[in-house]
Amino acid sequence: MNLSDQLTWTAKNHLRKTAYIFQGEEKTYQELEGAVTKFASSLKQLGYGKGDHIALVVGNTPHFVISLYGALRIGATVIPINPIYTPDEISYIINNGDVKGVITLDVILEKFEHMEKLIPNVKHYIVGETNPELEFSESPLSSKLKSFTQIVQEGSIELERPNLNDEDTAVVLYTSGTTGKPKGAMLTHKNLFSNAKDVADYLQIGPSDKVIAALPMFHVFCLTVALNAPLMNGGTVLIMPKFSPAEVFKEAKKHQITVFAGVPTMYNYLLQQPDGDVSAFESMRLCISGGAAMPVALLENFEKKFNVKISEGYGLSEASPVTCFNPLDRERKAGSIGQSIINVENKVVDEFGEEVPVGEVGELAVRGPNVMKGYYKLPVETQATLKDGWLYTGDMARMDEEGYFYIVDRKKDLILVGGYNVYPREVEEVLYDHQQVAEVAVIGVPDPDAGEAVVAFVVLKEGEQASEDELFTYSSQRLAKYKVPSKIEFLDELPKNTTGKILRRALKDVVRN
Ligand code: AMP
Repeated sequence: MNLSDQLTWTAKNHLRKTAYIFQGEEKTYQELEGAVTKFASSLKQLGYGKGDHIALVVGNTPHFVISLYGALRIGATVIPINPIYTPDEISYIINNGDVKGVITLDVILEKFEHMEKLIPNVKHYIVGETNPELEFSESPLSSKLKSFTQIVQEGSIELERPNLNDEDTAVVLYTSGTTGKPKGAMLTHKNLFSNAKDVADYLQIGPSDKVIAALPMFHVFCLTVALNAPLMNGGTVLIMPKFSPAEVFKEAKKHQITVFAGVPTMYNYLLQQPDGDVSAFESMRLCISGGAAMPVALLENFEKKFNVKISEGYGLSEASPVTCFNPLDRERKAGSIGQSIINVENKVVDEFGEEVPVGEVGELAVRGPNVMKGYYKLPVETQATLKDGWLYTGDMARMDEEGYFYIVDRKKDLILVGGYNVYPREVEEVLYDHQQVAEVAVIGVPDPDAGEAVVAFVVLKEGEQASEDELFTYSSQRLAKYKVPSKIEFLDELPKNTTGKILRRALKDVVRN
């Protein structure tokens, strides 16, 4: 099953229901389905079809949704790219990903004008209009430009669907990776479809749900959980151009939103908002956290203030992404990523791939219909990650007797202090519990005596004060000596990527400089 064909079915059953809301405007499933079909037929007219690669360099706007489903409908492969990437990053992905066409927005086009020579193989730029003041007749790309609006208007509603099989690649997601160039995880139609369906079933996302898409859509968390899952089951997606706490409160209240999906830093911003409107969360039946570890103190404080339950899950691009979630109908365990979702198996293994006993820490490995078929044009990296049908996640975890998993940390973030393992997350959890601390990240830095030393970066709550000594004493009372940070640095904010994940790599640069 292809997600885009599923949309046709969903639209048949929910013709007049609102599929999405964007800047106050509501579009029904009938309208969305019509735009997708017309967009798809125009793409075909332009010479695109099964196997062609199309880059989607679009922010959170309806263009993203129409383009994604339109391209999938003709069997093209979509490569979503973060629009705020630099020209070097974007051109690397476009060239490495053998992209033939780019879909973007007028406000982003200038970036492509500057990198025209870097990406000579791009044949068309389909440009979504968001700002009527922008004119493109003078653009150096004008011979390759197509108007998104025109493409949709001129498209036909007759479309012959291609013969797709489950193993055809639907999207290639370039994951940032901590070293080297990003790798393109190839997700098949089966991968994307099954994960959206399994997530929707597990979290019971249905026609009465209204889901806020405040995470960036090019990231797989938003793509599957806040877009594909609700659209599959007749839900409504509120497309937020950009995450802002004030907008979340306003829109959630106005539209009686039922599902919020965010990374922990978003929950932290909402919690820290001085005039945060608690009543905006009254309609919320489900708050989902994923993408990074949710500190227990943050979870508890948020739940108390907003009177909601947060369900933490876990995933990664290579698994489309979700593998675990805290269940709705059984116990929710704070600090845990929950149990395996429907159809997906998780296990914790040692360095030989053998499952470790319950409670012991090892690498988390995943198997299921959601697991990618490999990295694009990288057979060696694929072999190192996919072994015996299992995806090795690079995350250290443990499982309890009831099959709940706990992420200990990323394998590569482990700090080795004088031969002892220190997991940054454990130290972070302790500091998060301190009254004055708003945010914290812990890294390892080279140390001549112990090999590595623990350094904590702390952001204090607005108007609050705490000294390094105070936090040092606080940590010493709660952690074994080798885990206590040897240095605590105060920052105004922590570096984050566009998804809101804290960038530990950038903190290492802070120390180096
Ligand atoms: P990405 O491929 O960008 O989605 O990043 C996936 C990575 O995010 C995983 O390999 C984990 O390291 C991290 N991650 C996702 N969810 C969680 C979670 N609930 N707790 C801890 N780490 C997480």
